[in-house]
Amino acid sequence: MRQVAVLGATGSIGGSALDVIARHPQRFRASVLAAHRSVEALAALCERFHPDLAVIGDPACEEALRARLGAAGLATRVTAGAEALVEAAASDRCDTVVAAIVGAAGLASTLAAARAGKRLLLANKEAVVMAGPLLRAALQAGGGELLPIDSEHNALFQCLPNGRGDLSGAGVRRLILTASGGPFRGRRRDELVGITPEQAVAHPNWRMGRKISVDSATLMNKGLEVIEAHFLFDAAPDAIDVVVHPQSIVHSLVEYTDGSVLAQLGNPDMRTALAYGLAWPERVAAGVAPLDLLALGRLEFQAPDPDTFRCLALAYRALRAGGTAPAVLNAANEVAVAAFLDGQLPFLAIAEVIEATLDATALEPVRDLAQLVQTDLTARHTAQRMMRRSFC
Ligand code: NAD
Ligand code: MG
Repeated sequence: MRQVAVLGATGSIGGSALDVIARHPQRFRASVLAAHRSVEALAALCERFHPDLAVIGDPACEEALRARLGAAGLATRVTAGAEALVEAAASDRCDTVVAAIVGAAGLASTLAAARAGKRLLLANKEAVVMAGPLLRAALQAGGGELLPIDSEHNALFQCLPNGRGDLSGAGVRRLILTASGGPFRGRRRDELVGITPEQAVAHPNWRMGRKISVDSATLMNKGLEVIEAHFLFDAAPDAIDVVVHPQSIVHSLVEYTDGSVLAQLGNPDMRTALAYGLAWPERVAAGVAPLDLLALGRLEFQAPDPDTFRCLALAYRALRAGGTAPAVLNAANEVAVAAFLDGQLPFLAIAEVIEATLDATALEPVRDLAQLVQTDLTARHTAQRMMRRSFC
């Protein structure tokens, strides 16, 4: 029986993970559930899954959660705060961790799970982008295993020999990430003036949290995924390409030197990747509808438009610059996206804030977590300053 910690249990990925877990009560148990502030949603999940431990990220919510679980007669222990998340990820209560917190807030617990040798189901791509070299070292030290949950990286994992990097030895020429193109695919820059948050989060193929939905609309999501692919599979920036595929059926492809191209296909439903990660190397039912190729009829592929969707180019720039550049890119993006969702920043200014923040920041080689936390904080302040100067 796998004992699973779901960090980000009340989110979109967390909900999909719990759906798969609930389908296989003989194989998987949700032993730890964690969320940020949503006391009622987390309590409802505790009533359903009876975990040993519930962690609430915001300490101000601890008493409310404890009272709510007590009133429901549950024996679930309650802890709170960022440190409690780290402890839970590394604790004996779980052998598997679903890292599904959004943003830099998930970094420390993701690293802790890797260091503790857990099976790490990694959805929290921001953690890889910020701290790729540290995550690699933590995985090596912990001796656990990483199963990518981002659908593209899960596809690549499935198409690579042993899911591994060292691409030259494996005869791999290129990793090809597919991108849906988001809700504004095909539009030009001048057609993106005045875009509202509600328009930006209305993704055509996937139901996701608001932050990643905006990232999909700017194509920063694909940029973060290029960086994620670099760190997960040890692929050079030039060996990672992006192709727009509006149907989101081909989740990504691996091109080999002999001309073979392997792809993983499926309906756009994150439960496939989560079931794969939970059961690997076996396969279990995920509740996902079978793919009906005849109903689909055709699959299309197009080149991305880097002049309109500048975030993708900025991500390649940060990847090539190396060191702390991806962490700076990520922090500036988180700040700009939050401001956009708040109605404080125009859609097109997201890329400008990120570029200005990268321009204004001196880069360093990545050393440790404390340095990256500081890098993240400083870049957030810089991004705020850039926003005030130019847009507010
Ligand atoms: P979401 O906004 O739906 O959920 C985020 C979860 O994180 C919530 O449970 C929230 O309570 C928790 N959280 C946020 N801040 C926290 C904090 N400070 N402490 C503790 N918990 C905190 O987001 P999502 O769409 O589920 O995405 C989660 C992660 O998975 C992101 O990194 C995203 O990029 C990645 N991802 C998501 C999808 C998808 O289909 N949704 C696909 C691929 C990758
Ligand atoms: Mg993805």
